Amino acid sequence: MSTLRTPAQLCENGLTPREQRVALEGVADRYAVALPDALVRLIDRTDPHDPIARQIVPHQDELIQSPDEIADPIGDDVHSPVEGIVHRYPDRVLLKLTHICAVYCRFCFRRETVGPGKPAVLAAQTLAGALDYIRTHPEIWEVILTGGDPLVVSARRLRQVMKALGDIDHVKVVRVHTRVPVADPARITSGLVRAIKIGSKPTYVAVHINHPRELTVEARAACARMADAGIPLLSQTVLLAGVNDTPDVMGALMRALVECRIKPYYLHHGDLAPGTGHLRTDIASGQQLMRDLRGRLSGVCQPTYVLDIPGGHGKSPIGPNYIAGDSERGVDVVVEDFNGRRHRYPPCGASAGSTTDRAGRRPPQASQSR
Ligand code: SF4
Repeated sequence: MSTLRTPAQLCENGLTPREQRVALEGVADRYAVALPDALVRLIDRTDPHDPIARQIVPHQDELIQSPDEIADPIGDDVHSPVEGIVHRYPDRVLLKLTHICAVYCRFCFRRETVGPGKPAVLAAQTLAGALDYIRTHPEIWEVILTGGDPLVVSARRLRQVMKALGDIDHVKVVRVHTRVPVADPARITSGLVRAIKIGSKPTYVAVHINHPRELTVEARAACARMADAGIPLLSQTVLLAGVNDTPDVMGALMRALVECRIKPYYLHHGDLAPGTGHLRTDIASGQQLMRDLRGRLSGVCQPTYVLDIPGGHGKSPIGPNYIAGDSERGVDVVVEDFNGRRHRYPPCGASAGSTTDRAGRRPPQASQSR
């Protein structure tokens, strides 16, 4: 089976009921569809709530757009000085090499700009202009290849781009954001891995992965090929309702990532992309999930929960707050531990009276241990 791209193919393969086909034609007319074999094989067709299917099989709710949802939810356009570049933060830029992906995620924050019919790869002249922009801005320390998915681009073209970036003295780090290791792991060949390395400068790869089942034997091997080649790996996960919004699933994913030598990096709150409300959680649930992970999973397994502020104002951490008060202003600082118990800091002589539960009661045997 190759990549499925039409509602008719989805019906034929038992991924959607035939009676939904007409509605899904409407979805497919608006948003790109691609379900690669590597992910389709993971779907349990007997489970109407399968977490892999929820991410990649189009749903009629995608045609429902709330007033809060916007075409460019993280504000790429307002920070694009030349085509192909997004310069939102002082020391780094995005270089959008392509608008094509190996899989089209139903929650994609760039769903209005990716897909067939958009440029498969930046035209030579456009790419030259984007590289010139990077060359003439010495404050750019890091370049992040994104898209679309940069690892759908040929190894030959990637090697050229990496060489050009490697030749720019002030660019010290290149980062590649990709979902290919889980969507098409066979594409991560040793040749492609060599192509994304540049001389003495580090290339980081941030793998987009949302559910532990995506880390198949093949996906793990693809990540190992990069890690063995000396490429540090990070993860990006989108918090998705019905996919990974429980401590068990998210905890299993974070541990599996670390076992694969992938450092959990960002847990993204779902962006306000059009037609994605059925997959978005609320922030309070995300914060509770982060509380549930804290202390119960190794610190190495903890991602940073972030929100891209609509309008292009950048990412902010939105995890739970564990501290209250302000010692600089003479207000007692109270720190909450992972069990929900609160401790004054400094602890006033380390007496038992410095520890309470969330309701302010003193636990009978409050722990002061580390
Ligand atoms: S791989 Fe990334 S850019 Fe492509 S559809 Fe998924 S979220 Fe969007």
